[in-house]
Amino acid sequence: MRLSRYFLPVLKETPSEAQIVSHRYMLRAGMIKQASAGIYSWLPLGYKVLKNIENIVHEEQQRAGHIPMLMPTLQSADLWRESGRYDDYGEEMLRITDRHGRDMLYGPTNEELITDIFRSHVSSYKDLPLTLYHIQWKFRDEIRPRFGVMRGREFLMKDGYNFDLTKEDALHAYNRHLVSYLRSYERMGLQAIPMRADGGPIGGDYTHEFLVLAETGESEVFYDSQITDLTFGDRAIDFDSVEQCQAVLEEFTSRYARTDETHDEAIFAEVPEERRRTARGIEVGQIFYFGTKYSDAMGALVQNAEGDKVPVHMGSHGIGVSRLLGAIIEANHDDKGIIWPEGVTPFHCGIVNLKQGDDEADAACEAIYASLTALGLEALYDDTKERAGGKFASMDLIGLPWRITVGPRGLKNGVVELTSRRSGESVELPPEQAIERIA
Ligand code: ATP
Ligand code: MG
Ligand code: MG
Ligand code: MG
Repeated sequence: MRLSRYFLPVLKETPSEAQIVSHRYMLRAGMIKQASAGIYSWLPLGYKVLKNIENIVHEEQQRAGHIPMLMPTLQSADLWRESGRYDDYGEEMLRITDRHGRDMLYGPTNEELITDIFRSHVSSYKDLPLTLYHIQWKFRDEIRPRFGVMRGREFLMKDGYNFDLTKEDALHAYNRHLVSYLRSYERMGLQAIPMRADGGPIGGDYTHEFLVLAETGESEVFYDSQITDLTFGDRAIDFDSVEQCQAVLEEFTSRYARTDETHDEAIFAEVPEERRRTARGIEVGQIFYFGTKYSDAMGALVQNAEGDKVPVHMGSHGIGVSRLLGAIIEANHDDKGIIWPEGVTPFHCGIVNLKQGDDEADAACEAIYASLTALGLEALYDDTKERAGGKFASMDLIGLPWRITVGPRGLKNGVVELTSRRSGESVELPPEQAIERIA
């Protein structure tokens, strides 16, 4: 992409309404624009990162055997009356009346809708196990939307639902989600720690939240510092293997790690003092097993091998796709701007032309741009006439992992400058070698 043809409305000033760094940088880098409280337009750069995160979630869900679909944002109130949640959900639910006077709502989550789909089409245990998911906009009329996309009212969530014949099978689905979530967050350059949590309005005893440690997080968390040494990495896993998934769950949940809702001072005191940590965290996902809560209420029954009709065991599993942008920036930035992890970066490399209009510099930039493109690497070429200082400041702000700086002086010696955003280190190299380094 050539910057002169792109839409990147970078702000020079720090917007006064933004209290935390991720919100400030998302506004300054021209990623989002508030449409109304807690509701954002995703400008091209923000949209690109959102899509990258979404793609990782899709890939990891499908790797785990979960099936993508899409449900609508608007739902009929009738289903929610069946489950009993129409009244329970309270003021966070945005209620809408259509022209015929029918009660509708903008879905804050989808347990009812998916249970209705399930009961309409599945009646035998032979069709189980089944896990369906979608990535769709949700609306929750948060009392205090804040911190930009972190606590929006409209936000993008991946929500998945498993249907199983037995509790054991459903717990395997729970473990599979835990593994796939660990993989997803790591691919985004994040450490998200599964912590024992509280069921809230979704219900259920088995539930873990995934938290990214950050001072600006809204949750208070308590954990054994050993947990931060764990990484899933790229180890091989068979998602169909009950033992393998169970082993990962045990490995990642055997040390103390809880949110304030379930924190227990007495148990925490058993952790050696030097390993006890109290911190703040950002909730980027949550998994639940809630048994037959919705299938009982809504009559989602299947016939088992004995011919009896039994309620299906369910769980639901959410990832805060749009919140993740904020969480990733909170965990990856410095005082100049964002530092995107490779897995989610909007472009791999920036190209800065120090002397736009100089034949040699322009030709060198074009050649680098073409080579990167041919290698399947997306570059953002700053081909504007802005002065060098402004170009560098914008590139640092938008946080691409690499920058190639091209100017007449270097070209005389046959070199360009390659700079790593994360380390800040620069090296002078012939253009081909600079390209090789990033490829
Ligand atoms: P929170 O405790 O932050 O209000 P939640 O527990 O109500 O979140 P869940 O019902 O568990 O949220 O939804 C799954 C995921 O969706 C959360 O883990 C979070 O990452 C994301 N999420 C929830 N509410 C919002 C919101 N208002 N804005 C952005 N993301 C959200
Ligand atoms: Mg909430
Ligand atoms: Mg929560
Ligand atoms: Mg939650």
